[in-house]
Amino acid sequence: MSELHLLSTEQLITGLQNKQFSSAELTEHYIKRIDALDSKINSFITHTSETARAQAKAADGMRAQGDQRPLLGVPMAHKDIFCTQGVLTTCGSKMLHNFVSPYDATIVSNIDKAGMISLGKLNMDEFAMGSDNSSSYYGTVQNPWNLERVPGGSSGGSAAAVAAGFVPVATGSDTGGSIRQPASFCGLTGIKPTYGRVSRFGMIAYASSLDQAGSMGRSAKDCAYLLQPMIGHDPRDATSIKYEMPNYVQDINDAQAAAGDKPFDGLRIGVAKEYFGTGLDSEVEQAARAALKKYEELGATIVEVNITDPEITLATYYMLAPAEASSNLSRFDGVRFGYRCENPTDLIDLYTRSRSEGFGAEVQRRILTGTYALSAGYFDAYYTKAQKIRRLIVKDFDEAFASCDVIASPTAPTAAYKLSEDLDPATMYLGDVYTIAVNLAGLPALSQPVGLTTEGLPIGLQLIGKHWQESQLLTTAHLFQQHTDHHLQHSTIAKETV
Ligand code: GLN
Repeated sequence: MSELHLLSTEQLITGLQNKQFSSAELTEHYIKRIDALDSKINSFITHTSETARAQAKAADGMRAQGDQRPLLGVPMAHKDIFCTQGVLTTCGSKMLHNFVSPYDATIVSNIDKAGMISLGKLNMDEFAMGSDNSSSYYGTVQNPWNLERVPGGSSGGSAAAVAAGFVPVATGSDTGGSIRQPASFCGLTGIKPTYGRVSRFGMIAYASSLDQAGSMGRSAKDCAYLLQPMIGHDPRDATSIKYEMPNYVQDINDAQAAAGDKPFDGLRIGVAKEYFGTGLDSEVEQAARAALKKYEELGATIVEVNITDPEITLATYYMLAPAEASSNLSRFDGVRFGYRCENPTDLIDLYTRSRSEGFGAEVQRRILTGTYALSAGYFDAYYTKAQKIRRLIVKDFDEAFASCDVIASPTAPTAAYKLSEDLDPATMYLGDVYTIAVNLAGLPALSQPVGLTTEGLPIGLQLIGKHWQESQLLTTAHLFQQHTDHHLQHSTIAKETV
């Protein structure tokens, strides 16, 4: 029982079905680990242990009555960007330090309906703006592989909690890499689906045309299990799309059954030189190239493709995302939601101080940049121009995908770095150089672990797919994981027993 947290989601499901353990025991196991070890990494903002215990007991009862839902009684946790009815939802901000949502995000209720049990709300960069979880009002998160390193961000709490063995899977959100980059830093698999695949209803908005929720787990199959209940059209999100619904786990199983010793025969992997430049650490490059070699050995063909210069993409993203954020975050005014300053003298004072005191530095920086880009006189020079470049980025991907099925690159230019008080924002933004184009084009992408640095820090490989091709990405990563063991390595905290 002491190693339950090292089991895959599938093993947990089988264990529950075969009565090797109950959901109550499993849930207790995770809660015990969180209580004993989370003080080292600070991955949770809110615990929902009591409700979880009650739900686990109920799940055991339902299973005994013949309830067949596969995920029934399997624990998980949510990034604190998703509204959870009756439970604090902070989005990592002082602004929402007292916000108890009156409703559930669609993905929260969908996961609930699948029978999963939420153990709480996970730490994150404030309003999902950041790449190392340092902007959270609730404190930094430590990487479970090495406590001196960052877990990545903005879904840093989600990545750390899974990597620490506190939950088998967790939700995340990805506007410019926030699922993939922390997955890479924490040795996990994490997938950002096609824009429109998952409802954004009840997911606190950062940049609405880029935001997409997804799943994080140790393996591609773990991600598939959690992603399944998340997807689908939602009338409450006008950008969610009615589209053919895949069955990810089934697709993985079918592909595995059909795979010979060259499972990637016929798969064309696009590699762009643009994604092997710009500050790429040599150990990261080596691991990414070794993984590509492995794909080749297993039958894949590598083809050279061209994509938009990442530096142009970076500038485009850091214009559009703050512009949308400045508009989205105008609702936090001290009147309708969350934090309100003390003793305001008049309405302007109420707005100004509530926002100055409620938002942290990075959020304020983006509101300022975004407001500037949208202001009269600058709109065309910045916002419109960036929108035009966004169109070109989409076109470049279309052209690249004419000659390949997936595009591979390192997920981030480096492995997890040390938290530094004086990391300037521009340097942090550079770390997003390989992940943001995907969001600008609305494409699906995942990160999968492909090795460790000499210091023992995980390295991730990104796979980008064509629109709606999450199944292909998950299947590709899964088959790779059938032939390699990078995803089976465990962090220092995961190896601790309590
Ligand atoms: N690091 C990027 C940013 O700060 C991406 C964040 C995200 O995907 N939410 O904007």
